[in-house]
Formats: sequence, structure tokens, C-alpha cells
Amino acid sequence: MLRSVILAASRSSQVERLVATAPFTRDVVRRFVAGAGTDDALRATRALVVDGQAVTLDYLGEDTTTPEQANATRDEYLKLLRLLSAAELTPAAEVSVKLSALGQMFDEQLAYDNARAICAAADAAGTTVTLDMEDHTTTDSTLDILAKLRKDYPSTGAVLQAYLRRTESDCRELSGVGSRVRLCKGAYKEPESVAYQSAREVDKSYVRCLNVLMAGDGYPMLATHDPRLIAIGEDRARWFDRSPDRFEFQMLYGIRPEEQKRLVGEGYMVRTYVPYGDEWYGYLMRRLAERPANLMFFGRALVSKK
Ligand SMILES: Cc1cc2nc3c(=O)[nH]c(=O)nc-3n(C[C@H](O)[C@H](O)[C@H](O)COP(=O)(O)OP(=O)(O)OC[C@H]3O[C@@H](n4cnc5c(N)ncnc54)[C@H](O)[C@@H]3O)c2cc1C
Repeated sequence: MLRSVILAASRSSQVERLVATAPFTRDVVRRFVAGAGTDDALRATRALVVDGQAVTLDYLGEDTTTPEQANATRDEYLKLLRLLSAAELTPAAEVSVKLSALGQMFDEQLAYDNARAICAAADAAGTTVTLDMEDHTTTDSTLDILAKLRKDYPSTGAVLQAYLRRTESDCRELSGVGSRVRLCKGAYKEPESVAYQSAREVDKSYVRCLNVLMAGDGYPMLATHDPRLIAIGEDRARWFDRSPDRFEFQMLYGIRPEEQKRLVGEGYMVRTYVPYGDEWYGYLMRRLAERPANLMFFGRALVSKK
């Protein structure tokens, strides 16, 4: 119930104004977002890489409505990739891209062209791109664009969301050689017609999808903080004889950092998803919805400012 309310608020510009102008918001944002500028992104990346982790960087922003905004987002990624390469942070760092930030909502061709330019820059920088997955109305379009991008940039990855009923079948389609799939539970509010609604059903679907990917020939990226699913991932790696260079765990910046370190210590590849930029509102609200206990951060920040 609280999750639905927070996710509904994530698309309200009135609530956004309220949250963005609240004096204590900055402290909460800082926990989940590396900072506003490219410098902040590079600093966070360097610190993680020094600790033995890999990184995927997300320039925050979504649901772009004008070509100018979409092209500006593309240009930020091109700049970021140049700087990552110059700082010798590639291939440890790759980038994650939301097609809706590149124009998908109003011009699919523009989103494809922009994504292609980012893939070319990533390739030149010696790294790659993963396409984030947004709400279910964009899944077909995103997978179509992925297929086109992979013709020239075969290492381009995609995210599949275990809460969608279709995902087990999508995992089969994308479990072939060279395919990079990030498997997550899914962070949007979706109707019952397309998505499992209970945590138990979502978890069961995650395990079925994980089995398909780990048994396949692609490169699975297990994106979860859930201790049970991480343990199952470790188990399947042994079962399917996957060495640490043939799959990875992924987690979000600021969430379960001690578990990230533990997995690195066990010899696993761990990639942290590092968001940066000013457009943090939608991202932050999804993190709050995943764990309404995070609202306590707002409470604590509020009290500490008094
Ligand atoms: C690398 C990465 C990329 C992602 N990309 C996408 C994407 O493209 N599209 C998409 O829909 N979703 C994406 N997600 C989000 C994902 O769908 C889930 O919403 C999110 O990961 C929470 O699910 P969980 O598997 O961690 O399990 P949960 O059951 O939600 O959490 C398990 C445990 O992890 C910890 N935890 C989880 N979330 C939080 C939080 N916000 N704050 C504090 N602790 C927390 C808690 O201890 C919790 O008990 C991504 C997640 C990751 C890790």
C-alpha cells in the first residue's frame, strides 16, 4: 500500500516540488546519489574501483519530453565516457542508460540514434552500455532497440525485471552467447495483468529467471540486495561451474555496501550502480518505495536539522 503511494508520488510534479525544496532532502539524496556533477561521478567511481569493484554510471533523468533535453543527456554520456577513459577507469566502469531520457517517449528513432552514439563512444573508450528497463509499456521498444544496437555493438546489455510475467521467456531469448542481461526484481508500479504482485511470486520468478540465465551461454548480471537471492546466485555459480569472470553481482550505490565488500572478498565480481546528476527525484522515490523504512532517513534528517 505504502509502496503504491510512494510510486504514484514519484510521477507527481507537485510532490516533487515539495520534496525538492524541503531543507533536509539533500542529506537523504546524498545517501543514494554520488553528486550533481561529472566530477562527483568520477570520484565515486575511483573510490569503488580502488576497493576492487566495477561500476556502472547512470546520469539521472527520465521521461524527457524535448529533443534538446534528449540530446543534452546524450552529450553528458559522451563527455563522461571521454573522462572515464582519460582517467583509465574503463573497462571497470561502464554506463547505464534510460532510453526515455534519450527521447523514447516521443521519438523512438531519436532514442535509438542517441543510444547508438553512446554505444560508439563506449566502444571507443573500451567499455560498454547497459539499457535500463523502465515501465512495461516500454519493454518491447527497449528490446527492439537493444537488438538493433547489438548488431554493431554486441556487448550492449539490457535489464529484465523478474516481476513481469513475460520475463522468463525474455530470459530464454537473451541467454545466448555474448548476451549481457541484468536481472532485477523491478521497481515500477505495474498492473496484475502483466506483473506478479506478491513479493513471494516475484522472488520465485527471479529464481526461475536466474536459473535460465546461469544455465545459458550469456553473461548474467544478478542485480539484487536480497540475501536469499544472492545465496542462490552463489549456489548456481557452483552448480553451473561459472567462474567469477562469467557472471557478476550488482547493487545500488549506498545500499548494503558491507555485503558488496564481502562478495568482493569472496572473489566475486561486484558492480555498483552509481547515479549522479540533478534529476534525482524519480530515482529517489523508487528507492524509498522499495524500502519504506528509508522514510526514516527523512525523519532523522528532519530531526537533526531542528
Ligand atoms: C544494479 C541495479 C540496477 C537496477 N536497474 C533497474 C532497472 O533498470 N529497472 C528496474 O525496474 N529496476 C532496476 N533496479 C531495481 C530493482 O528492480 C529493485 O527494485 C531493487 O534492486 C530492490 O530489489 P532487491 O532485489 O534488492 O530486493 P528487496 O526485496 O527489495 O530488498 C532486499 C533487501 O535489500 C535491502 N534493500 C533493497 N532496496 C533497498 C533500498 N532502497 N534501501 C535500503 N535497503 C534496500 C534491504 O535490506 C532489503 O531487505 C536495479 C537494481 C540494481 C541493484
